[in-house]
Amino acid sequence: MARDNGTGGPISVLGAGVAALCTATELAARGLDVELIAPEDAPVPASRFAGGMLAPFCEGEAAPEAVVTAGQTAVDWWAAHVPVTRNGTLVVAPPRDAAELDRFARATRGHAPADPGALEPDLAGRFARGLFYSTEAHLDPRGALRRLRDGLAAQGAAIHGGPPRGRIVDCRGLGADVSGLRAVRGEMLLVEAPDVALSRPVRLLHPRFPCYIVPRAQNVFMIGATMVERDDPGPVTARAAMELLSAAYTLHPGFAEARILELGAGLRPAFADNMPAVVRQGRNLHVNGMYRHGFLMAPVLARQAADLILTDIGEDTHAH
Ligand SMILES: Cc1cc2nc3c(=O)[nH]c(=O)nc-3n(C[C@H](O)[C@H](O)[C@H](O)COP(=O)(O)OP(=O)(O)OC[C@H]3O[C@@H](n4cnc5c(N)ncnc54)[C@H](O)[C@@H]3O)c2cc1C
Repeated sequence: MARDNGTGGPISVLGAGVAALCTATELAARGLDVELIAPEDAPVPASRFAGGMLAPFCEGEAAPEAVVTAGQTAVDWWAAHVPVTRNGTLVVAPPRDAAELDRFARATRGHAPADPGALEPDLAGRFARGLFYSTEAHLDPRGALRRLRDGLAAQGAAIHGGPPRGRIVDCRGLGADVSGLRAVRGEMLLVEAPDVALSRPVRLLHPRFPCYIVPRAQNVFMIGATMVERDDPGPVTARAAMELLSAAYTLHPGFAEARILELGAGLRPAFADNMPAVVRQGRNLHVNGMYRHGFLMAPVLARQAADLILTDIGEDTHAH
């Protein structure tokens, strides 16, 4: 039987992106009665456009140590709920940008020197050296979101667009009423490339247009992603499409024949320090500011939110 949270109603998790679905899943796993508030006319979640990389060490190039350390715990959380591919990440640079590889190696840890062609035969002869982050992983974001949602429904969680009936955990990304959030636009492509075979995310370093390619099933690849400080959900620009496609072509000429399945843009919700956070607002909580790290950090913040709620319930029970 679901545990009473002290308000007589369920915990109402607002949103249906990765923050909301991980938080609701974690709360349900702790025995709490949960409802997901996901109106059909709500904005498209940024989570739909993610690469699905669980890459704490690579992200450490720019992210604080807290993301690198906490993010390492995310892979096991995800693997307990959805299919996860644990093949690591390969990082390469074109010969003229070889210095970028040395800079990236100095800025990150958890890597070893690698022969790119030995890891990814399709890249043999194209890149002399690379960095291999063997403990990193990736997942299919849309499939993962669907599975978490189905899992909640199967456990009896109500999923609806009506008014919340209980204590609120607001996971509405840029739609949330929390101060200090800004949008960081990210553009991506989904392509089908029958001539390309990759078994792990590959990051191509470049001083101006770094890019990554994440393999999905059946020769589909996600090519991402721009980082633009703009609150603009509009269509992908020609510049972004050209830069991302030309980087993909530099990685593998087989991308020239790829069929473009989708061009998409998502707005990453970010606080000023780019750190995801659980923020208390009276009795309500916000799980927000996921920035580049929604899939990496949502399980971590979901646990923090669940701990806070269970502590509150314990204190309420004591006080009565
Ligand atoms: C191109 C791109 C690539 C990325 N790649 C990665 C990656 O490889 N790994 C990684 O960890 N992260 C990645 N990210 C970052 C990640 O996608 C974000 O951090 C994450 O999606 C943010 O999740 P969220 O749940 O906070 O917000 P969202 O996914 O935006 O979800 C917000 C939810 O709130 C709902 N909502 C909003 N307003 C309202 C309202 N008024 N009423 C009701 N509901 C509302 C929305 O409908 C949605 O369901 C990437 C992002 C982009 C754009």
